[in-house]
Amino acid sequence: MESHYEILVIGGGTGGIMTAAKLLKENKSLKVGIIEPSDTHYYQAAWTLVGAGTYDYGNTGRPMSSVIPKRATWIQDKATGFKPAQNTVQTASSGDITYDYLIVAPGLVYDWSLVPGLGEAMDKGVVCSNYTDPEHTWNVLRNFKGGTALFTLPPTPIKCGGAPQKIMYLSESHFRKAGVRDKTTVVFATPGTTIFGIPEIKKTLLEVVDKKDINLRFGYKLEKVDGPNQIAWYSFMDHEDEYNHKDVRTEKDGNLTGIHFDMMHTAPPSSAPRVIQDSPLANEAKWLDIDKYTLQHNRYPNVFGLGDVAGIPAAKTGAAIRKQVPVVIQNILAMKSGDGLGSKTYNGYSSCPIVTDYGKMVLAEFDYDNNFIPDPKLKMMLIGDSSKEHWRLWMLKKYGLPYLYWNKMLKGKDV
Ligand SMILES: Cc1cc2nc3c(=O)[nH]c(=O)nc-3n(C[C@H](O)[C@H](O)[C@H](O)COP(=O)(O)OP(=O)(O)OC[C@H]3O[C@@H](n4cnc5c(N)ncnc54)[C@H](O)[C@@H]3O)c2cc1C
Repeated sequence: MESHYEILVIGGGTGGIMTAAKLLKENKSLKVGIIEPSDTHYYQAAWTLVGAGTYDYGNTGRPMSSVIPKRATWIQDKATGFKPAQNTVQTASSGDITYDYLIVAPGLVYDWSLVPGLGEAMDKGVVCSNYTDPEHTWNVLRNFKGGTALFTLPPTPIKCGGAPQKIMYLSESHFRKAGVRDKTTVVFATPGTTIFGIPEIKKTLLEVVDKKDINLRFGYKLEKVDGPNQIAWYSFMDHEDEYNHKDVRTEKDGNLTGIHFDMMHTAPPSSAPRVIQDSPLANEAKWLDIDKYTLQHNRYPNVFGLGDVAGIPAAKTGAAIRKQVPVVIQNILAMKSGDGLGSKTYNGYSSCPIVTDYGKMVLAEFDYDNNFIPDPKLKMMLIGDSSKEHWRLWMLKKYGLPYLYWNKMLKGKDV
């Protein structure tokens, strides 16, 4: 195996593969290496639909070998250390690998230690997460006989901030179909201050919440979980607030309030991988220290990063990555030809396809300033206002986006 690459990519997930594929489309002769330990690449965005019983989990993964670009070298290994001053990455079993340019995209990891009890309870009994085992979520929903259905999220950054509420809307519909809705209280407990930060989207989602009679609780910081007794313990943040109050069984322990649940769905507490946190590449908050516009490392100019590991105030989504990739590529290619950085910058674009029911979706597209910036191409799909629920958007989520992901984005083609 070669030990030097012009461009070395860490991670063969959404960010790593999309960037490597597009780089090689721009310049076939580049020597690109991808360090990635896993055998399977997942399209995680479809896990929301798997958890709601409307998508086959088997169709969300493909062999890693099938998505690694033909002209790239797959180093099936794990990066174990970074020495950016020496342009070197250490690996578990392939020795040291050096590079001219490094692209860091190892995603994020779930850190159960941040919410005691959650790791032990997760994916067992009535505790589930589309992030870890969406098939278990669907089993939990199917077996639910009524009571308190709690949907929550931790106070850390998470992948796709909208995912914890998407599954709630779908679950509520499923409970209706299953005849248990009358016996059910649906509660959304979030550390956030609002259901969504974009005014146009918030308006629609509050209508959905009203229609579905959901109790929203803001400023709820998930502190620990008691799996055996089915209690989620919270402390209250300063902005604690409620919308559409419902009585549920609670109890107190000092300054903590426990909510008894009969099922719970949560996103996992998340952090950058340990190898990033412990490296010179991390910022103070222990995420990858890159510039939010150029995606260049703030201290090592030949290092770039993108995706979930990035320490920038953008949403952690595949959609964000789609707009980050061209910036990283243009910058690296310009630097390689001695022109400094390219002219493209990343404006914080992300999109969140918020499924609000079986057959309905709202598409939140926004930038760093929380401006609502719908893609003009939606008009060609006869979607006049993507801040409103639309069947065509659901079709985009269920069929269009998976197709584009596997056949265009991962192949480095423009979408
Ligand atoms: C339930 C759920 C719903 C979602 N919904 C949406 C959605 O609707 N729309 C959307 O756009 N996004 C959605 N996302 C988010 C999206 O999937 C992620 O933002 C995206 O996959 C992040 O890409 P990434 O390349 O940063 O990380 P990943 O795709 O997670 O890939 C990281 C890769 O790095 C590898 N790696 C880790 N450590 C190392 C190491 N030390 N050395 C080498 N390789 C390493 C891993 O094996 C992995 O293959 C969702 C995610 C989840 C879980």
